[in-house]
Amino acid sequence: MKTVTRFAPSPTGNLHIGSARTALFNWLFAKNTNGKFLLRVEDTDKVRSTKESINKILDGLKWLDLNWDGEIIYQSKNLQKHTKIANELLDKGLAYKCFCSEDDLNKMREEAKILKKPYRYNRMWREKNPSDAPKDIKPVIRIKAPIEGETVINDIIQGTIKVSNEEMDDFIIMRSDGSPTYMLSVVVDDFDMNVTHIIRGHDHLTNTFRQNIIYDAMKWQKPKTAHVPLILGSDGSKMSKRHGAIDVEEYKNNGILSNALINYMLRLGWSHGDDEIISLENAIKWFSLEKMGKSPAKFDNDKLVSVNSHYIKELKNDEIIIFLNDYYNKKYKTELDEVSKKRLNLGLNDIKSRSRDLNQLAEMSLFYCSKFP
Ligand code: GLU
Repeated sequence: MKTVTRFAPSPTGNLHIGSARTALFNWLFAKNTNGKFLLRVEDTDKVRSTKESINKILDGLKWLDLNWDGEIIYQSKNLQKHTKIANELLDKGLAYKCFCSEDDLNKMREEAKILKKPYRYNRMWREKNPSDAPKDIKPVIRIKAPIEGETVINDIIQGTIKVSNEEMDDFIIMRSDGSPTYMLSVVVDDFDMNVTHIIRGHDHLTNTFRQNIIYDAMKWQKPKTAHVPLILGSDGSKMSKRHGAIDVEEYKNNGILSNALINYMLRLGWSHGDDEIISLENAIKWFSLEKMGKSPAKFDNDKLVSVNSHYIKELKNDEIIIFLNDYYNKKYKTELDEVSKKRLNLGLNDIKSRSRDLNQLAEMSLFYCSKFP
């Protein structure tokens, strides 16, 4: 069976370095196994999804050269299919309408608080007859989660994880306004797209337990999963601005080369002996999910800069001159003349060996371009 992976960003912001790394792992795994890498934009949240964010995500992927196979799939276009599956589950008695009022739910939350237990919907409509339903409440549809036993996940990275089914709740698959929830849409789309491997952030691990209930109810074969540990800041806390740039675009603007960022992201949580510099060709050849560490990777800006310096040294002078022309044009509204280009060709080897990033390289190169008085 051909491997199919997918990157499924929600377009509610820029392309975060953590998401870019997830995309990279999906891309590499597909390349390594001669499979396909698909892109699905999860744009069902009408309030938070923006066109601007979609463009930023696509620009980031293109800059990193993480090209996807086939057309982009927009989740919002599949809503009818998701609705059809929700109704099918309802008809088969594997899901049910829940007519709880806001008051009912608040009571459950209060009770949980008093008992110091996590809130869980008490399944009050699971066995009730819908004809007893209050007329003024539009129902949601909930899945019938298993009540007894335990659910086991064999994750490629996280290993075997067991959860007692008592911990599961009858989560909502369709809201009262008739819109399907994320939990349902993801499963239906992954099934439709024939996804064989779901590679995504560790923060989605608990969703896998819930999503598996839908796979089981529909008797669909489950894809394999690999939950990638998150990226932490150098001090072990959640990665934030103070640890380094967050969005891929910032790295680009800071003069980081795309192949340097790819190399650095690859090494965040994945290793091949002590190799720090890994060509894309070797990355494709050597990549395996089994070699990913379970614990979160710590972001190290110095290491990124050192990888970037390496790739800057490898740049050809012609490429740099094209870049510099563009840089000076944008920043100083001036073009490189032939004399400057000649001088640069003589000086660039030295400048390359001293540059941490492209911006620094450009500012150091200015010296070679100044007119003599
Ligand atoms: N859209 C989700 C996100 O951006 C990812 C969903 C998934 O990978 O299953 O976090």
